[in-house]
Amino acid sequence: MSDRAVAADGLRVVVAGGGVAALETVLALHELAADRVAVTVLAPNSEFVYRPMTVREPFAYASAASYELAPIVAHAGGELVTGELGWVDPKDRIVHTGDDGSLEYDALVLALGARIRPRYEHAVTVDDRRLDATLHGLIQDLEGGYLERIAFVAPGRMAWPLPLYELALMAAGRAYDMSLELETTVVTPEDRPLAIFGSAVADGVEALLADAKVKVITSAYAEVPRKGEIVINPGDRRLSVQRIVALPELYGPSVRGLPIGEHGFIPINRFGRLPDVGPVYAAGDATDFPIKHGGLGSQQADAVAESIAALAGAPVEPQPFKPVIRGKLLTHERPRYLSAQITGGQGFASHFSESPIDGITNKITARYLGPYLEQADQARATA
Ligand SMILES: Cc1cc2nc3c(=O)[nH]c(=O)nc-3n(C[C@H](O)[C@H](O)[C@H](O)COP(=O)(O)OP(=O)(O)OC[C@H]3O[C@@H](n4cnc5c(N)ncnc54)[C@H](O)[C@@H]3O)c2cc1C
Repeated sequence: MSDRAVAADGLRVVVAGGGVAALETVLALHELAADRVAVTVLAPNSEFVYRPMTVREPFAYASAASYELAPIVAHAGGELVTGELGWVDPKDRIVHTGDDGSLEYDALVLALGARIRPRYEHAVTVDDRRLDATLHGLIQDLEGGYLERIAFVAPGRMAWPLPLYELALMAAGRAYDMSLELETTVVTPEDRPLAIFGSAVADGVEALLADAKVKVITSAYAEVPRKGEIVINPGDRRLSVQRIVALPELYGPSVRGLPIGEHGFIPINRFGRLPDVGPVYAAGDATDFPIKHGGLGSQQADAVAESIAALAGAPVEPQPFKPVIRGKLLTHERPRYLSAQITGGQGFASHFSESPIDGITNKITARYLGPYLEQADQARATA
C-alpha cells in the first residue's frame, strides 16, 4: 500500500506507548483528522503519571498526579490495547506484541520513552518510578542533622536536565529552613548550569544556586569509585561527601525490525519519521533528539500527528519540529520559569523569570494534552 492509500474506515494508526508523547499524538490526531483515522494505543500501563512532579515526593509533598489512560484514549476516539510492542515488520506493516499478538498499521508511532540505567554503582540513582522510596531516607537523615555534605551528580550524557537542580535546590532549602549546616554540591558535565537553555537561563540558575549556597562544579566528568567519593575528570580532583545522588543514563528502546541509532535511540527526521521503513514515526524520549524533555516530546508528537493527518487526507500542511523549550524549575520556594529556542542542541533567545512566560504554568507544555489535563484537574477538584 502506498503512503496515500487510506482504508475505508480510516487510516489505521498504531501508537505504541502511554506517556506524554503518545497521548499528545492521539489528542492531536483527534483534533486534526478525527474522521480519517482509526487509532489504537498499545501500552502496558493503565495510568499516566505526571513524572516531573515526582521530584517533590521525597520532601513529603503529595504524590505526583496520575490519570487513567483509558478515558484519555477514549476522549480522542481511540482504542486502548494493554500490551507491549515486541518487534516491527515494516515490510508487511505489522506490530508484533510481547504476548504473540499482532496489529496491522497504515502508520505507526513509537512513543516508547527511554530506558533508565544507573551510571554509578556507589550512588543513589534518580528513578522517578520510586523516587520517594529511594530518597526519603536521605531527606530524613538531612532533617535529622546527620548529613553535612551531599552531592548531586550528572553523568557525561545528561538525562532530563531539570531534576538535578531541583533536587539540589530543594535539599539545600530544607536544610536552611531547619538551620542545619549542609554543604550541597552539583557536579555536571555542562559548561554552565542548564547551558542548553541559553545564557539567560544559565545566569538565572547560577544566581539561584549561589543564593542557596549550592556549589557547582561544571565541565566535570565524574566517576564514583566508592561510596562517598567522587573523582572529577579532567584533573583528577576528588570530592568527599556522605551521600551521592546521581541522574541515570538514558538508553533508547532498540526496536527489533527498525533502524537503531546511537545508544538504542530511534533516528528520526524533522517530521518525526524514521528513514527507509515506510510510514513509521517516533516522538519523545525514545528518539535520538539529544534533549529529553516532555515539552519537546510533545512538540515532536504534534509534528508527527500533522504528518499522519496529511497522510490520511486531512487539509494539513505538516510543519517540521522546531524545538522551543518551555520549563518550570521547582525550587525550595517559588518556582522559576524558563524558555529558549533550541538550535543544534543549544539554546538562544532564552528567558528566565519569576513569573510564568506566555502564561504557561505547567511543568510539561503540551498543546493538546496540557488543556486536557487542566480540565481533568478541574473536574477532580469540583467532584
Ligand atoms: C524527575 C523528572 C523530572 C522531569 N521534569 C520535567 C519538566 O519539568 N518538564 C518536562 O517537559 N519534562 C520533564 N521531565 C522529562 C519528561 O518526563 C519526559 O521527557 C517525558 O515523560 C517523556 O515522555 P515519553 O512519552 O517520550 O516517554 P515516557 O513518559 O517514558 O512514556 C513512555 C511510555 O511508553 C510505554 N512503553 C515502554 N515500552 C513499551 C513497549 N514496548 N510497548 C508499548 N509501550 C511501551 C511506557 O509504559 C510509557 O507509557 C522530567 C523527567 C523526570 C524523570
